[in-house]
Amino acid sequence: MENPRTIMEYIQVAAGYLRKQGCDTARLDAELLLGHVLQLERMQLYVQFDKPLTIPEVDAYRAVIGQRARRIPVAQIVGEREFLSRPFKVSSAVLTPRPETELLVEAVVERFVDHERPTILDIGTGSGAIAVSLACQLPQAAVTAVDVSPEALAVARSNAESCSVDVEFLESDVYEALSGRRFQCIVSNPPYIPSSEMANLQPEVQHEPSLALDGGPDGLAVYRRIAAQAAAHLEPGGSLLLEIGWDQGTSVPQLLRAAGLTVLETRTDYAGLDRVVISVWNE
Ligand code: GLN
Repeated sequence: MENPRTIMEYIQVAAGYLRKQGCDTARLDAELLLGHVLQLERMQLYVQFDKPLTIPEVDAYRAVIGQRARRIPVAQIVGEREFLSRPFKVSSAVLTPRPETELLVEAVVERFVDHERPTILDIGTGSGAIAVSLACQLPQAAVTAVDVSPEALAVARSNAESCSVDVEFLESDVYEALSGRRFQCIVSNPPYIPSSEMANLQPEVQHEPSLALDGGPDGLAVYRRIAAQAAAHLEPGGSLLLEIGWDQGTSVPQLLRAAGLTVLETRTDYAGLDRVVISVWNE
């Protein structure tokens, strides 16, 4: 198509271009990004498919398609991603919340829904998706969230504010700022990619912070730190729930047992891969 004019024509041209750049969700991305530029839901684009774009709209669309062609993730371009049906602000300072991580939140909610006032710690909160969702779904809980990155904490704070929940945010490298404090539940989606695999991640993931992804030489460095001091930061009978990589369903439970925790269950994600480990600490 030589000269696109309408919404549908621009989507087709942009999708073709993104496909050539290697985006495997080119059509969807072209639609999401035009929706973002025009402030319209995807469905509304179809309703108005014949409407011509104005020059400023075309310029804005070109700019975001250019970013996407450089394989910047759609969530970072639009600045937002939905997690458990709530919009979360995201930036290049935080890992974009993933659907698999919703399973981790659901496992915590299941365990604590009947508790009167559970105390919950989220380690490496990033966008705050886990901590804020828990504060929303367990309004009786006292939620603390830590991250080593002040930039991430700023994003997480703003997400807590948008959801009108109270979360205690602290700048802390794992337990560093928490000496003497114990919780009924510790939850974390730590970085778990082995360093040697970082360079092979798809280009979109390479736009995400390596701090949130790089789990050291064997991918287990942060699990070791979380496990080693879990007993010092859990109440007796407290739970530790972790997201894990698809191939860590043996190694992480092993680490947890070595640290004196009892592993109750490993749950799989939508793809049938090991994703969540549930453990408890009984003195
Ligand atoms: N699930 C992420 C991925 O896309 C990794 C997240 C993490 O390291 N915690 O690879």
